Amino acid sequence: MSALSNTTSSVREKLSVTRFSHHPESHVAVRDQAVCRDCVLKLCVDICPGNVYRYTEDPGLTIAHETCLECGSCRIVCEFDNLEWDYPPGGFGVDYRCG
Ligand code: SF4
Repeated sequence: MSALSNTTSSVREKLSVTRFSHHPESHVAVRDQAVCRDCVLKLCVDICPGNVYRYTEDPGLTIAHETCLECGSCRIVCEFDNLEWDYPPGGFGVDYRCG
């Protein structure tokens, strides 16, 4: 087993004990689905470690905010600034258990 796969395994183990407290309202939203449709790279889908984003032609970009790890990566990679993102309200969101 390589050092990288040891690290990957370790991260997965740590994430497996991560807890989420879901707020019923999403703290992530798409500003304009037409922008996502025209976006060639759709980097948010690939980069999100929480698998929050899925893209299909219809309905377009969908969001499963319940598994958001609050890393902020999606906000950085969206070159069109087409995501509204804020931290969940107090007491809700991700609760890291192992660092
Ligand atoms: Fe995914 Fe991180 Fe964006 Fe949450 S903040 S939706 S985990 S990329």
